[in-house]
Amino acid sequence: MLELSEGSLQSIRCAADIIKASHRTVVLTGAGISTPSGIPDFRSEDSGLWQRYDPFEVASLTAFRLKPHKFFEWLRPLAVTIYNAQPNPAHMSLARLESAGLVQTVITQNIDRLHQRSGSRNVLEVHGTLDTLSCIECFHQVDSQPYVQAYLDHGQTPICPRCGGVLKPDIVLFGEQLPAKIWLKALDASKKCELMIVAGSSLEVLPVAGLPMRAVENGAHLIIINRTKTYIDVRADVVFGEDVAEILPWIVKEVIGDYT
Ligand SMILES: [Zn+2]
Repeated sequence: MLELSEGSLQSIRCAADIIKASHRTVVLTGAGISTPSGIPDFRSEDSGLWQRYDPFEVASLTAFRLKPHKFFEWLRPLAVTIYNAQPNPAHMSLARLESAGLVQTVITQNIDRLHQRSGSRNVLEVHGTLDTLSCIECFHQVDSQPYVQAYLDHGQTPICPRCGGVLKPDIVLFGEQLPAKIWLKALDASKKCELMIVAGSSLEVLPVAGLPMRAVENGAHLIIINRTKTYIDVRADVVFGEDVAEILPWIVKEVIGDYT
């Protein structure tokens, strides 16, 4: 485990006290929680995913409809990485807190399912999921599992078994609306929580970035764990500028008494 300074230890104790006192805790996670698992932030120009295509040009709904093959070609290295990735101590710490009754909801901007794989149950995937695909012609929805291997291995574009249209992963593309039901649940959870923990999100992508403000405006406490500053750090009770995969296990140790 990371060596902590006395200042950081005090912050850990303070965060632990707030977590223990809260009856409704919501965690909001972003790309930063999955980078320790080797998954690049695809919005970042350093991710390597911008070298051949500008994601804004291939990963929008319009671009998908016009050139689905180009979209699938762009997504493939990211998809390969996601399907090979393993949850890290940050994901496991959150699952541990949930099973101890100390976290009620995880809202994630990630599409990698690492929260579910590490044992979190109540996960709201506000940017959609790779688990299902929907036909852009007849809207028929299918489980993505039978299509994954052929796509990862050979780049095969998934085709609708009903009408022969192209199947689109149910992830939110640039310029696309968030899945309405899930978004409303996330909004409701944010308004009603007593504590929001932001873990690995720089809070730059709207409308999700506005959720901590909703929480704070309704009187919730706020803990932020993110390598870079966020717009709402000034409203937070505790701010950690370190890696989530290093800080969250310390918090679990302080709150529950053992290390994940
Ligand atoms: Zn179809």
